[in-house]
Amino acid sequence: MKILLNKKQLIKLIEKEKNIGFIPTMGAIHKGHISLFKKSNIQCKKTLVSIFINKYQFNKKKDYKTYPRINKKDVSLIKKSNVDYLFLPTNKQIYPSGPNKKIKINPFSKKLCGKYRPGHFESVVDVIDRFIKIIYPKKIYLGEKDFQQLKILEDHIKKKYKKISVVRCKTIREKNGLALSSRNSLLSKKEETNASKVYNFININKYKIIKKKIDIKFIRRKIIQFGISKIDYIEVVNINKITKPFKKKKKFKIFIAYYIGDVRLIDNI
Ligand code: AMP
Repeated sequence: MKILLNKKQLIKLIEKEKNIGFIPTMGAIHKGHISLFKKSNIQCKKTLVSIFINKYQFNKKKDYKTYPRINKKDVSLIKKSNVDYLFLPTNKQIYPSGPNKKIKINPFSKKLCGKYRPGHFESVVDVIDRFIKIIYPKKIYLGEKDFQQLKILEDHIKKKYKKISVVRCKTIREKNGLALSSRNSLLSKKEETNASKVYNFININKYKIIKKKIDIKFIRRKIIQFGISKIDYIEVVNINKITKPFKKKKKFKIFIAYYIGDVRLIDNI
């Protein structure tokens, strides 16, 4: 595996590669990330992973500062996954003259997390666009764990980069149901168990919630009892109606964002 810190060196190294699978990450690598690397290894000639903690997409300084950083272990896990290139750029390499504040993205960015994290998705699209312009991958692998992010990026990439395809990857979960996330490492064992209870409770009641046989308010009250400090939202969304062209068939998912202590977790079920 080649590790690159420099944008120009990376561009030179991959200029002849026509079939790169790209997986952008913010590090603290776990099995969820690794499932994306594996998919790319199967589908593409070369796999390129980046680790870049994009400070502009954080709404709170503390969240950025406490975001897990476990570099050495990350490198070894990525190497073991047979990744060809690992790109670890600095902030200056990605933003030589600061972020793009005028970026226009899909209006779905104003819903769900967008309501609670103003400017977050604009910054995500900005940074991924910058990586695409460096790498020009054939495929980009994104996890359904961050479903809203996936839809917004998919929409942006479809419109702007017709030759690049977005590969959707299923959410990988712990045995107890909790979706793997870098932020889970900030939870105590007890908090992790509580987070898994949130998933299991929603999952068991999914169809009743969707068919409105159980009131969302009741679900909120129940979830709070699992030691959750705050719920930003819990919403049922017809995912076939969020980005154009709309599909006629209805397909519902339940989206949730909540806090355990200071740690914000999201899921979709
Ligand atoms: P992150 O490092 O959290 O920015 O995630 C990098 C990529 O991995 C994103 O496309 C995420 O959606 C994806 N990802 C994160 N957690 C999981 C998971 N549990 N299962 C599948 N994909 C995931």
